[in-house]
Amino acid sequence: MTIDLRSDTVTRPTPAMLAAMTTAEMGDDVYDDDPTVHALEARVAGLLGHEAGLFTVSGSLANLLGVRSWVRPGQELLCEAQAHIVRAEMGAHAVLSGVTTRTWTDPLGLVDVDAIAGLVAVDTGPFIVPTAAVAVENTHNFGGGTIQPLDRLAALRDLVAPLGVRLHLDGARLWNAHVETGVPLDRYGALFDTVSVCLSKGLGAPVGSVLVGPSPVIAEARVWRKRLGAGWRQAGVLAAAGLYALDHHVERLTEDHENARLVASTIADAAPGVVDPATVATNVILLTVGARAAEVVARAEDGGVLCGVVAPGVVRLITHLDVSRADAKTAAGVLADVLAVARQGPG
Ligand SMILES: *Cc1c(COP(=O)(O)O)cnc(C)c1O
Repeated sequence: MTIDLRSDTVTRPTPAMLAAMTTAEMGDDVYDDDPTVHALEARVAGLLGHEAGLFTVSGSLANLLGVRSWVRPGQELLCEAQAHIVRAEMGAHAVLSGVTTRTWTDPLGLVDVDAIAGLVAVDTGPFIVPTAAVAVENTHNFGGGTIQPLDRLAALRDLVAPLGVRLHLDGARLWNAHVETGVPLDRYGALFDTVSVCLSKGLGAPVGSVLVGPSPVIAEARVWRKRLGAGWRQAGVLAAAGLYALDHHVERLTEDHENARLVASTIADAAPGVVDPATVATNVILLTVGARAAEVVARAEDGGVLCGVVAPGVVRLITHLDVSRADAKTAAGVLADVLAVARQGPG
């Protein structure tokens, strides 16, 4: 059997989740009368300490709607250079919202308050692009599932809020940061003007994200969601999966983190230098394998383990709901063999 570590998006709904979906109360969400969607939106907004929520088909759409709430065409968004928003959303913020970006760089994807202070531009007159918002990713995917330190987030808020610059949190995996640190979700939520979270990653729902923010902002985002063709009808069938995930799949994310550390330490023992287990903060493992990245992925697949190349020379593994402890051990053994052998090979 294949063990799929390409992403935590690959999870299949469990039988209990499917049962919750088939018994969901439904309405027509474009008419705004689907009670299960309402329940999900209110639940997530409440968890994050925000007024209102909007259920969206993807995290990319939730980010698109959140960012465009604060950044007018021709204004700029600051974010980290490896952020999902600038690397993995196909230029949507530029193409659809006229947003320009400038980036700071951090090897782990973390907030660098000094660097942001050096980038942020307000009251610049009619010749410098004004900064309207800063986006932060927590946990940071291409940074290796890293967790943003709370004191840096607070310092960032102190820096930009007096300038009228808004903060958007790409919290696709905020759940992972929350369970790992014990920081309450609403403590994170309070630092940001809008937050997006994914239900379809480690939480195991088949589809869906939620954007939260102030009620008027979410009302406008609802209009834009429809304008972009992403209004949906009996979406309660999907919202029910999200509600089920919130009840049953949040606390267990710590198991994914333990499995990730197990995989990382097994690989580190077999092939020192490929990964430092101390950098594995949540469920993402980045392996630095140089020119052999494609070969490592192919040989892992021969051994029944799927993973992917996410940057030149970098292979990513992600643990999730459908990877048991035994699967993690098996996958770790396969990767350890592949990497130990690869190290002995020529060149
Ligand atoms: C997965 C992810 C998203 C959203 O992805 P979709 O595939 O559009 O749901 C956004 N941000 C980060 C950091 C992600 O990892």
